[in-house]
Amino acid sequence: MRRVLVLNASYEPLSVVTTRRAVVLVLREKAVVVTSRGESWRSERAEIEVPSVVRLTSYVKVPMRRVVPVTRRAVFGRDQNRCQYCEAPAESIDHVVPRSRGGKHTWDNVVACCRRCNVHKGDRLPSEAGLRLRRPPRPPRRYGWIFASAGYAVDPDWRPYLLADSA
Ligand SMILES: [Zn+2]
Repeated sequence: MRRVLVLNASYEPLSVVTTRRAVVLVLREKAVVVTSRGESWRSERAEIEVPSVVRLTSYVKVPMRRVVPVTRRAVFGRDQNRCQYCEAPAESIDHVVPRSRGGKHTWDNVVACCRRCNVHKGDRLPSEAGLRLRRPPRPPRRYGWIFASAGYAVDPDWRPYLLADSA
């Protein structure tokens, strides 16, 4: 089932929930639809737009900043499921500086990668393999936990709210 980004009343990303949960929030008037998928659900009493983003009607206190582990799912989310060398659909994780050469498993050394680039690169640095990163890998910003929880399923509709914090 597709998931829905929940924004605080202040438009700050708060959590990711199932569509069903988001619809319940809207029906109970605890949230309003910000972006919808252009489909609707009918209940006995109402017809409701299927949301991709909802916003709470009252402000809730924001939980503490979460640490984002470097998982395949989270890296794919950050890199939008694209190989960071050639933009093909990503299939694996590449250590920019290979682990065999002391590269660490950290946000700034791990990128999403297609199988072809991964095999071609092998145990070399990108420069040695004639590859160039599209952008330097960075740790996710404040809302990186969304990538960790949603991974490949990060919805394009959510990005404006995630990027608002990327400065
Ligand atoms: Zn590639």
